[in-house]
Amino acid sequence: MTRPLLGCIADDFTGATDLANNLVRSGMRTVQTIGLPDDAVAPIDADAVVVALKSRTIAAADAVGQSLAALRWLQAQGVQQIYFKYCSTFDSTPAGNIGPVTDALLDALHGPGQGFTIACPAFPENQRTVFKGHLFVGDQLLSDSGMRHHPLTPMTDANLVRVLQAQTRRRVGLVAQDVVARGAGAIRERFAALQAQRVGVAVVDAVGNDDLLRIGQALAGMPLVTAGSGIAIGLPQNWPAAQRLATGASADALPPASGHSAVVSGSCSLATNAQVLAFKQAGWPAFAVDPLALAAGDDVVGAALAWARPLLAQGPVLVYATAESAAVQAVQARLGVARAGEIVEQALSAVAKGLVQAGVRQLLVAGGETSGAVVQALGVERMAIGPQIDPGVPWTAVQSPACPGETLHVALKSGNFGSTDFFTKAFAMLQGRT
Ligand code: ADP
Repeated sequence: MTRPLLGCIADDFTGATDLANNLVRSGMRTVQTIGLPDDAVAPIDADAVVVALKSRTIAAADAVGQSLAALRWLQAQGVQQIYFKYCSTFDSTPAGNIGPVTDALLDALHGPGQGFTIACPAFPENQRTVFKGHLFVGDQLLSDSGMRHHPLTPMTDANLVRVLQAQTRRRVGLVAQDVVARGAGAIRERFAALQAQRVGVAVVDAVGNDDLLRIGQALAGMPLVTAGSGIAIGLPQNWPAAQRLATGASADALPPASGHSAVVSGSCSLATNAQVLAFKQAGWPAFAVDPLALAAGDDVVGAALAWARPLLAQGPVLVYATAESAAVQAVQARLGVARAGEIVEQALSAVAKGLVQAGVRQLLVAGGETSGAVVQALGVERMAIGPQIDPGVPWTAVQSPACPGETLHVALKSGNFGSTDFFTKAFAMLQGRT
């Protein structure tokens, strides 16, 4: 039994998995909780714990309240450092929630108006870099990228010092890349100089993985870190592997997989459409869920499960609502965007639960919202993070009331992630480890 060293608060669900995946890849055994665990839950046995909140676009006061509750729970777990994780495109508005949550966490840890932390959404491996305080998405400034049209958090300014200053009561400063390039000592000196100027939050440049490692080293002992998932790559080096050596377990070790396998797909992204097509072309059985039949009240869930049950013994099955954009738009025109999304999510999560009750123990879910609905329907409270299938998508092991006392392996794939052969690759990988 080990106690977590790093306690993370993620402002959305798939972002939490992305962070947990980076921590595991860097050698920390990581557990992710869905929302704030209730106090009755046993202590976490891991090096890092990620509390997944859905606080990115809710009212700032609610985001602050939930984040502080998560902080208190993590402190009770005995963690040594807090990591507030947000999007690598710094998704926020002048109302928040990055600034207000950062202020509240610093106030709680250091006293009102006190303390110091960094802000760094950089994740160079995923084309997010910060230079002279400006965030780039690939070759474009954030403000020239598609993010300028985001419906909830349009990002029209790439200057993160300015963006963050509009959201926080503390002074915002910058640690520029030339300082970062000189290493952890130079970065710490700059932190001290900024604090002497009463700066409370420093945006930190990072243009490559080496920068993340240097920054990570400089963050040793800092009570609060705020960042995207990239900074996680540089933090584990600060904790000698003593804990992990003591357990003898590798960071991504999961219990062996068993049972039948299935894919439930509600994502309509280009990548998922290609993955569904490739799975069907490889000869695996697939059942299409028709949203209009659902809206008409047909028992589509019952039909999908009756179709799937006799096939499960022969290999993975796919139940999908995935469709190309013209078909989706036609459905949305008939049902409305929200209702279409809701009835499909409800149906697919009921299918997922039925499949688990029918013996599926290896479940792949495609779609961010779909994943949220499925995990909720399965009553999952925490996920042990395992090996990465493709960037951003690890296998996880969970417990569910749908299969009491048994381990269920789950992979949650957000829309555009994963190679075309992702579905078959994911199951092959799990078989290879059993
Ligand atoms: P992604 O990660 O690709 O964005 P999500 O699961 O987050 O996938 O979102 C896809 C949304 O589209 C879900 O709300 C899902 O219920 C809905 N959906 C899936 N298939 C269809 C369809 N054929 N018609 C209309 N809406 C659909």
